[in-house]
Amino acid sequence: MGKLLRHKLIAMAFLLLLAFPARAGELESMSFIRDAEIEDYLRSLGMPIFRAAEINPQSVNLLLIQNNAINAFVAGGMNIFFYTGLLQQSESADQLQSVLAHETGHIAGGHLIRGREAMRNASAQAIIGMLAGLAVGVASGNAQAAIGTIGGAQSIAERNLMSFSRAQESSADAAAMRFLDKAGISSQGLLEFMKKLEGQELMPLESQAEYVRTHPFSQDRVQTIEHHVKMTPALHGKTLGPSFQMEHERMKAKLLGFLHPEAALLRYTDKDPRLTARYARAIALYRTAQLPRALTVMETLLKEEPQNPYFLELKAQMLFENGHVSEAVKIYQACVALKPDSALLRVSYAHAILENGVSSQTDLAINQLIEANRLEERNPETWRFLAAAWSRKAETEKDIKYQGLVSYALAEESLAQGQEKEAQRFATRALKTLPKGSPYWLRTQDIKLSASEDSKD
Ligand SMILES: [Zn+2]
Repeated sequence: MGKLLRHKLIAMAFLLLLAFPARAGELESMSFIRDAEIEDYLRSLGMPIFRAAEINPQSVNLLLIQNNAINAFVAGGMNIFFYTGLLQQSESADQLQSVLAHETGHIAGGHLIRGREAMRNASAQAIIGMLAGLAVGVASGNAQAAIGTIGGAQSIAERNLMSFSRAQESSADAAAMRFLDKAGISSQGLLEFMKKLEGQELMPLESQAEYVRTHPFSQDRVQTIEHHVKMTPALHGKTLGPSFQMEHERMKAKLLGFLHPEAALLRYTDKDPRLTARYARAIALYRTAQLPRALTVMETLLKEEPQNPYFLELKAQMLFENGHVSEAVKIYQACVALKPDSALLRVSYAHAILENGVSSQTDLAINQLIEANRLEERNPETWRFLAAAWSRKAETEKDIKYQGLVSYALAEESLAQGQEKEAQRFATRALKTLPKGSPYWLRTQDIKLSASEDSKD
């Protein structure tokens, strides 16, 4: 998609709000959610599936989109996107894992989605931009506008961009069952999830679950899975263990607390002693600006699990966002020590250090961010903080090299967001002051060259 066109689409967003007021909220909520705990949980569900599919787990990205609809899809190659609505509506770890197995089936089968060609090399961030852009494009009066009025802007965008054929759906189901068999897990979860969606296809388009729209549904899919469950008696009752189900409940509690704090406070009263209930409450209290009460509940959780890195992270986040930065720094340090392979925790730690403003700790923040980049490439936020950290070094050390590094980091940030022109602009600026031949100089050269190649077509 050309740059110019995309700018035009953004300008049209205003019009869309007028044309589809009911859909505007959904468009706005096309944003990413990052959460170390939920991402780790999804990855642990994915591990046996990826192994069974003979896919390198490192090459699959699992991404969360804040949206209440039930949907999951594959785009841009090895990216599996989950709507928070699907996570919240799935009833067990097994159901969620079966969706993951199905999406992995699409990846393993190399299924081509219409429009996927354009997305193949795009970053996840850029894909979201394209999805939002496409939805807007429907309203802007192009050839698809007539269809757009039937199902609403966004659903048509997804139909065109992400829907598979029925044959591909059956093949992804078959692959999912094969992966689950190989991992020694019953396909009962897949059957339960499909039954949940059964009958949706007969409903009018606008009230169908989005999952049914992007993954065409048919009655014989349920029958095939039912048959498979019957034919694999050795796997009956082979479900994921209690620790997975517990993580599943915690994930749902966390999402409810963060995304729907008022609902969480209604559902979980202070008489509810369960840990998940207190987890949701603590988050909801903090999200509704009741910090002292939130911290009190948080302490009860930490009393039970003092070494839980995610409980500590949440406490640090509460303190950080309420101005208790130096306390937050100490807790984030403990989080990173407990979970050194989490890029997100390192980024939060570095962010808190930088916000704390102790200049002797700038190098510590830089080291955390460089390590975060090694653990997870292409996170725009990491580069933004690195730019801030190097900018601080430029101030204190009066060394021109750091100015080059700031521009370099901003080039990487732009690249991670799919903004090649911006990346090129920052790279050109960085090359003026970076030491010639240094590793960062070489990398900046690459950015400049790749960006100019992309903008030719
Ligand atoms: Zn599918």
